Amino acid sequence: MVEARGHARKPTVGGNWKMNTTLETAVALAESLVRSLGQTLQVDVVLCPPFPNLEAVYRTLEGSTLRMGGQDVFWEDAGAYTGEVSAPMLVAIGCSWVIVGHSERRRLLGESSEIVNRKLHATLRNDLNAILAIGETYDERHAGQTEQVLEEQLRDSLAGVSRDQMPHIVIAYEPVWAIGTGETASPEQAQDAHVFARRLLAHLIDEEVAATTRIQYGGSVTSSNAAALMSQPDVDGALVGG
Ligand code: PEP
Repeated sequence: MVEARGHARKPTVGGNWKMNTTLETAVALAESLVRSLGQTLQVDVVLCPPFPNLEAVYRTLEGSTLRMGGQDVFWEDAGAYTGEVSAPMLVAIGCSWVIVGHSERRRLLGESSEIVNRKLHATLRNDLNAILAIGETYDERHAGQTEQVLEEQLRDSLAGVSRDQMPHIVIAYEPVWAIGTGETASPEQAQDAHVFARRLLAHLIDEEVAATTRIQYGGSVTSSNAAALMSQPDVDGALVGG
């Protein structure tokens, strides 16, 4: 049995700014978050601006506890890969995190879990922390395939990852039907999926990893539903896009 309670899992809250900021709005948003959350120690707060905004946002975050992440990363560290950004480049610009496997990349850009896995390995070998996103579509949920999809995504994305690397990974359960739609998973739906993902971690790696890995929820999180979602025993934070 996975022990769901009693482990002090530090919550992680991520902001996925997608392709929605300009340089000016990114800096203004970062400045306002530094003012409101900039000395927070109880929660890991990770801001993920678009690549061209990273340098300016990093300067804004200096001296605060807020951390910065890329929204994506390429699986090779350098070479002839036009348009791609590598993990060493993210480190050099001040990132300590990166999102891998976001459903918009899986769905719109055809990223398979095998590609996500290669990106995850690039992330970890360059000492970055990963937010690994998994989640089912509306059709998959209504066809009763949620658990099968989560299992495939988690197993294939984590292939070859050692238990020692797991503290550098936060899982983001992001049901695709809830992302950017205004339709949120209920706290019970989120809790059920998180417990399922935690059991999978126990099966794939071991009970201790299952009990200590942070699993955050993403999908239309707002100030009015965040508290109810995060009060669930297996919901260890949120990934917020909108
Ligand atoms: C996301 O993009 O990871 C996300 C959760 O988006 P939103 O909050 O807009 O649903």
